[in-house]
Amino acid sequence: MNSVYHIFVRRLSTQQKHYKLVIIGAGCGGLACASKFAKKLSKDQIAIIDKNDTHVYQPGWTLAGAGLKTPDELEKPQSQCIPTNTTWIQSNANQIEPEKNFVQLENGSKISYDYLIVASGIQTRLDKIKGAIEALDNHPQHVVSMYSRKYVRNVYNTLNHFRGGQAIFTFPSTPIKCPGAPQKIMYLADDIFRRNNVRDKTTISYNTALPVIFGVKKYAAALMEIVKAKNIQLNTRLNLVEVCADKKEAIFENLDQPGTMKTFKYDLLHIAAPMTPYEFLAKSSLADANGFVDVIKETLQHKKFSNVFAIGDCTNLPTSKTAAAIAASNSILVRNLTNIMEGKSDAVPKYDGYTSCPLVTGFNKCILAEFDFDGQPLETLPINQAKERFLSYIMKKDMMPNLYWNMLIRGTWNGPAVFRKLFHLGMSK
Ligand SMILES: Cc1cc2nc3c(=O)[nH]c(=O)nc-3n(C[C@H](O)[C@H](O)[C@H](O)COP(=O)(O)OP(=O)(O)OC[C@H]3O[C@@H](n4cnc5c(N)ncnc54)[C@H](O)[C@@H]3O)c2cc1C
Repeated sequence: MNSVYHIFVRRLSTQQKHYKLVIIGAGCGGLACASKFAKKLSKDQIAIIDKNDTHVYQPGWTLAGAGLKTPDELEKPQSQCIPTNTTWIQSNANQIEPEKNFVQLENGSKISYDYLIVASGIQTRLDKIKGAIEALDNHPQHVVSMYSRKYVRNVYNTLNHFRGGQAIFTFPSTPIKCPGAPQKIMYLADDIFRRNNVRDKTTISYNTALPVIFGVKKYAAALMEIVKAKNIQLNTRLNLVEVCADKKEAIFENLDQPGTMKTFKYDLLHIAAPMTPYEFLAKSSLADANGFVDVIKETLQHKKFSNVFAIGDCTNLPTSKTAAAIAASNSILVRNLTNIMEGKSDAVPKYDGYTSCPLVTGFNKCILAEFDFDGQPLETLPINQAKERFLSYIMKKDMMPNLYWNMLIRGTWNGPAVFRKLFHLGMSK
């Protein structure tokens, strides 16, 4: 009887660990915040929940798709990325009870917290397109997607061996991470086809669910010129719903006439995956009607639960889902949450929605789009960034990966606002 009692007590204590701060997700946003808090709290005060043992630099997938990086050089063991001064709980969270301040893990155990940061990203859902996974698995010489750790490995090989025909690049009807990426890979493919002397035997189409090529007018205008110069066909308001790999047909719904389908023949199809919030979040009371964490956009604090914050792709922040947005917002989150933890009311700048999309438009060329919540350009450099530039390309290809690994996830990169101020101050003198 005595030993049963002790087992029960031991179980309770292992099943209900408590931390001052719990972070769900050790991706870009989770680690940026964890690294900052690791300097303020002790290892037994801060826990990071994430099952994945590999950390992937996802912005590099576009470059890997074009053979400019290898998928392997975009990955590191998670154990090398998690700050040492934190406790890593290697599991998935499968339930959040913000009313009771606990997170439940897959094995049923509960982790309670004083403060919570949600940073679990967004789910890639190739399964939402009928036949897409079957096509990617069984017809890799015709159907590719860089929006997946598994399938990105095949993209460059297929693009490089393409010998001409109809090439279609898609953009889905859901929010996605880095909305510029589906066209970046298209421009790089265009250059690969030219290099391999098959461009004149190839028709390239960009079939996008959006009504425009890009959401920010200044960059959209520049991209329209590029699309024209490259002889790319832009088809708007088309959402890929089915792939019939045997017939090499892609079926799109016309979003202006719901229920009306249009079939395109293809020889090469690049699929940008639809994405959805994770179910465990969507069903929690942290979520808005679309399943994203409902935060105050200037502070990243939850609208209802004041001890909960969220960052990155899992949030309903009305800006593009990018690592750049995390860079610009993580210090704001950390300062706001620190104020709450310490009962202070120190002034904290408001997040302006800064996000960035380095739109690689070919080998050695890039438009560096930077903008805010209102879709207004917020450019760092004192030059017109809508122009294709080698400098922007080098920043995307070589500088940004280094910034990510050595500064952003280490909690020491807060975005380029400081340089923007410096450059613009210099100009106004
Ligand atoms: C092809 C591509 C190109 C891109 N290009 C750019 C670019 O050029 N510039 C740019 O700034 N951004 C780019 N991005 C976007 C950028 O990678 C993401 O916006 C960024 O990684 C989001 O960070 P996050 O922390 O929100 O999510 P993630 O980095 O995806 O991390 C989420 C973490 O949460 C974990 N997790 C998920 N579910 C659970 C759970 N139930 N319990 C615990 N943990 C969980 C995951 O394992 C993961 O580690 C690109 C993305 C892609 C895919």
